[in-house]
This record gives sequence, C-alpha cells and structure tokens, in this order.
Amino acid sequence: MTDKKDEKINYDIIIVGGGPAGLCAAMYSGRGMLDALVIERGLPGGELLNTELIEDYPGFESILGRDLAEKMADHAKKFGANIVTDTVDAIERKEDGEFEVRTQLNKVYHAPTVIITAGGTPIKLGVPGEAEYAGRGVSYCAVCDGAFFKGDTIAVIGGGDAALEEAGYLTRYAEKVYLIHRRDEFRGSALLQQRAFNNPKIEVIRSKVVEAIEGGPSGTTNLKLKDTKTGEMSDLPVTGVFIFIGFTPNSGLIKEHFEHDEGGYIVTDWNMMTSIPGLFAAGDLRVQLTRQITTAVGDATTAVIAVEKYLAERKESKAASPLGTA
Ligand code: NAP
Repeated sequence: MTDKKDEKINYDIIIVGGGPAGLCAAMYSGRGMLDALVIERGLPGGELLNTELIEDYPGFESILGRDLAEKMADHAKKFGANIVTDTVDAIERKEDGEFEVRTQLNKVYHAPTVIITAGGTPIKLGVPGEAEYAGRGVSYCAVCDGAFFKGDTIAVIGGGDAALEEAGYLTRYAEKVYLIHRRDEFRGSALLQQRAFNNPKIEVIRSKVVEAIEGGPSGTTNLKLKDTKTGEMSDLPVTGVFIFIGFTPNSGLIKEHFEHDEGGYIVTDWNMMTSIPGLFAAGDLRVQLTRQITTAVGDATTAVIAVEKYLAERKESKAASPLGTA
C-alpha cells in the first residue's frame, strides 16, 4: 500500500496516548529511527495536565505538571515524533499480524506494532465542588500530592484497598486523616483495614457520603456529609480530600481478547508485550505495583526496545518464509 504524502497511514509503530509513557515511547522510537505515530485525543501530557505541581520526577525538584508535559512533548518532537490529535476508537490485529488503529476522525492507521499508553481515569464522586477544587485540595493521587498537606486535616474517600493504603500513606504528612466510607464494612483487605484502623492519625467515618466539596480562594475548606442511614447532614472542615473510589483503565480500545485482571488492567510480560503479539502496553493501564510518572516512562522505554527486537525478528521470519508472510 502506498501512502499519499499528506495521508500517511503506515508506520513501524503506533503509540496510543500522549501522556508521559506515550511521549517517552515517541522519544525512544525517534532515537531508534523507528517511524512512529502518536495519537493523543487532547494536548500532549495526559495526567500531567491534571497535576498542579510535580515533586517526584528526578531532576526536577518542583515543576508544574503542564511545564513537564511541554518539556516531554518538545523532547519527543526533537527526535522527530509525529503527534496527531485524534481519539482512538479501536485497535485490532489482523491475520497478517499488522494492526489497524481506527480513530474518531475516520482514519485507519496501520503498523506491525502498537504501544497502548492510554492510561486510565480515576472514578469521580460527581459532587458539586469536585471539579472546581481539583488541584486545590481535591486529589486522586496521594503520592503526587500528599506532601502539600503537611500538618493539615484531610479526608480520604473510599473503602477499598486504595483508600485504606493511601490513608496510611497520607498520615506521613497530614496531622489527621478522616477515612470516609459509604458503608459500615470495608471491601479492602483485612490486613490493610487493620493497619488503617490501628493508625492513631486516622479516624474512620462509616456510612457517610460526600454531598459537596466547599471552599474559597485558598482552596478546599469543608465537606458536606450525609449519613446514609439517617439522612442527617453534617460539616467536616478539611483542607484536602483524596478520592479513591476506583480507577477505570482505558483498555476497552482493544477489540479482541487480551489477558487482563478483574479490573481491566492489561497483563504484560517483562518486555511490556501483552498476550497479543506486537501489542505492547506501558503506564497506568498495565497491571503493576504502583502507577507513577517514573514507572510510566520506565515501561515505555522497555516497550520501545522490545518493539525494535520484535520488528527485527518479524523481518527475519518474513524473509525466511517462502510466502513472505510472518
Ligand atoms: P475498589 O476496590 O473498587 O474500591 C472502591 C471503593 O470506593 C469501594 O469501597 C466503594 O464502596 C467505594 N465507592 C465507589 N463509588 C463510590 C462513591 N460514588 N461514593 C463513595 N464511595 C464509593 O477500588 P480500589 O480501592 O481503587 O482498588 C482497585 C483494585 O486495585 C482492587 O482490586 C484492589 O484490590 C487493587 N489495589 C490493591 C492494592 C494493594 O493490594 N496494596 C492497593 C490499591 C489497589 P463499596 O465498597 O460500598 O462498593
């Protein structure tokens, strides 16, 4: 198939998502002389653009999320990254081993390898004030934002492993952490429950839901809580609220069976390859211990090196095959 100059559709590698993992994959692809396309639905940067200040990326003691995003995008472009703004609808591997990547702008791109770095989305409470105070007291990442709440009184919402674990983590910084759960029983593991309940800085509030997040020019100041049994309303003054009520990995783009865990997170081997040959995954949508900017770029680095090997092997086996197919 020949591309028209302005309608190039064939690449060595298609990178789905332009967050830290996608931009790092683009930078390494460029350095490896691979012909790569990055498809990102918004501005390059992904979750960096939802993070006010970053203090845990080596080499940058403190940098605005949007500034780091711009630096990563510029770095990738310097090595020739081709970034298009479009939304991927479907990734599908064809019988000949080539992938078809379909987008909302009705484009169909082709490549023998795809790295999916489409991240995931923290589930939102959907209450008044949540969007308004995002980054000004409302957070979905304890490791990213915990240090901004030194000596403060804050709240954690949720009753799963993430809420229990992150409440404990946040006591390193906060003077007091209210752990607010909508039921009496926690679904998180017994061990994490025990740890949280025994932590003197954590006070558990059961059977209450957040009805609104309130604040002022300085950020979050108060939570309006409702008792799920009595309907009674109450106020809880806090300067921060960390919401851990689940996370949805954007893995639904893959239109065939792939190995994943019960939450939809993609299982990869140590080369970041999924159970579909030629399809690699990097960053937040992969099954792993933690989800950080540093782990996302680490995944992406491994994935691109593995892609290079995969492409070389594919070329060799194609050359060796009498039909010229692999
Ligand atoms: P999760 O297990 O799905 O728990 C979500 C929690 O949020 C539940 O307690 C749920 O309440 C609550 N919730 C959901 N919607 C809510 C709403 N609108 N308002 C208030 N509360 C709401 O999610 P997760 O804690 O993020 O964990 C996801 C997966 O990662 C799990 O498989 C977990 O085991 C794993 N994980 C493991 C570790 C670890 O092992 N160290 C750490 C983090 C995560 P209900 O219980 O009433 O439904």
